[in-house]
Formats: sequence, C-alpha cells, structure tokens
Amino acid sequence: MFALEIKGLTKAYKNGVKALHGIDLTVERGDFYALLGHNGAGKSTTIGIISSLVNKTSGTVKVFGYDLDQQLNLVKQCIGLVPQEFNFNQFEKVMDILINQAGYYGIVRADAVQRAEIWLKRLDLWDKRHQQARRLSGGMKRRLMIARALMHQPNLLILDEPTAGVDIELRRSLWMFLAEINQQGTTIILTTHYLEEAEMLCRHIGIIQQGRLVQNMAMKDLLAKL
Ligand code: ADP
Ligand code: ADP
Repeated sequence: MFALEIKGLTKAYKNGVKALHGIDLTVERGDFYALLGHNGAGKSTTIGIISSLVNKTSGTVKVFGYDLDQQLNLVKQCIGLVPQEFNFNQFEKVMDILINQAGYYGIVRADAVQRAEIWLKRLDLWDKRHQQARRLSGGMKRRLMIARALMHQPNLLILDEPTAGVDIELRRSLWMFLAEINQQGTTIILTTHYLEEAEMLCRHIGIIQQGRLVQNMAMKDLLAKL
C-alpha cells in the first residue's frame, strides 16, 4: 500500500483553465517527497485535491489505501495540511486554535491540551500560547500552522511552499523539524520551487510543468543527471 496513489488526475477550473492534464503519481509510506515546479505549474491544485479543498475533474486518488471519493473521512484523518496562506481566525489564541482543531477530529480536550503542549514546545511557540494569532510574526504563524496540522497525528503531512517568505534561519530550523518528523515515521509531501529545498530534505522528487508530471525519480538520480 502506498501513502499516496494518484491515477489520471485532471482538473479544469470553472473559468476554463486546465490546471492538470493527467497526473500519475505514487508516494511510498515513510517517504519525503517534493513536488517541484514554477508558479502556475499545478502544485497547489494537486495538493488541494488530495486534501479535499479542490474538486477534481477526473482521476482517482488514494491515501493509505482509502479512496478520496468513497472514504473521504478516512482520507481526512490521514492528512495534515499546511496551506500557504494563513487561514486561522486572527483573534483566536494560539492554544485555542490547536484545541479547536483537535476538536474537529473528535480528540478530547485533555488529550488536545497535552498534544498542543508538545508541538508548541517543539516549534518554539510555547511562550506565545496565550497570544492572539494576529500578534505573531510571519514565521511564528507558519509554525503555528504546522502545529495545527499535526494535532490529529496524521500519517501524511502535506505542506504547500512551507518556507516561502521565511528568513534563512527559520528555513533551516523548519527543515530540521520536518526531517525529524519524517524520521519519526510521518510521510511528508511538500511543494517548492527551490531545488535546493528539495535537495536538502527529500528522497523523491516530482517535477510538474504546465499540469504534467515530467519527471518522477529518486533525488540521488536527479542529482547525478544534473
Ligand atoms: P502552482 O501551485 O504550481 O503555482 P496552481 O495549482 O496554483 O499552481 O495553478 C495551476 C493553474 O491553475 C494556473 O494556471 C492557475 O492560474 C490556475 N488556477 C489555480 N487556482 C485557480 C482557481 N481557483 N480558478 C481558476 N484557475 C486557477
Ligand atoms: P467538512 O466539509 O467536513 O466540514 P472541512 O473541509 O471544513 O470539512 O474541514 C475538515 C477539517 O479539515 C477541519 O478540521 C478543518 O479545520 C480542516 N481544514 C480544512 N481546510 C483546512 C486548511 N486549509 N488547512 C488546515 N486544515 C484545514
């Protein structure tokens, strides 16, 4: 069984834009996979479909064997999503954001508080737990989104351009954090337009161009070709 198995995935937006033209892609369990491509290539559309924020036009998607069309709730349980844009209530406090997120997944409060403490400490946000989200810096907001995505202990963590717009120091510490999470067993897929980021972290890479997957290989094979 794969962490992710996509076959013949297409997407035409309502305005007529054809964002994906038949993507086939598998990601092994435990892998760290980069989806690399220029702006507009179709990265966000692909992960939007996997995380059920965007409807696909055709094709099949399976996450840990669960079919997106038939078993949506099970798929959602498996996935933690870190979107590119901050999408939490800016007036909510950091701790409450995490506890409410856990609530969506039926996690009882006492467990949620414990998990929130673990992630806030690991992501260096513990001191900010009583602050409203709007008081956080951009880098802190991004770490908060990662903590939120991990609250229900997903098997697959998906991040859309996780280090876009963050300074070099935070980028390095996020890379270290993600490498640790992956070593502890979480499969990770991230999108990026930096080859360097993919190279630092990922074992497999897919290159997407104009809605088509034009390369899909082990990172070491790609590096040998360059
Ligand atoms: P990437 O994440 O690689 O930058 P996207 O998946 O965001 O690429 O975009 C792929 C294509 O789909 C682009 O041409 C983009 O303009 C278009 N697109 C993305 N989202 C929408 C939308 N909601 N409605 C219409 N077109 C969209
Ligand atoms: P439903 O359609 O069943 O109401 P939603 O799509 O609203 O489900 O969301 C289900 C779960 O996914 C919720 O816990 C919600 O907080 C989470 N979620 C939805 N969109 C995002 C997102 N962009 N980033 C992180 N979590 C999200």
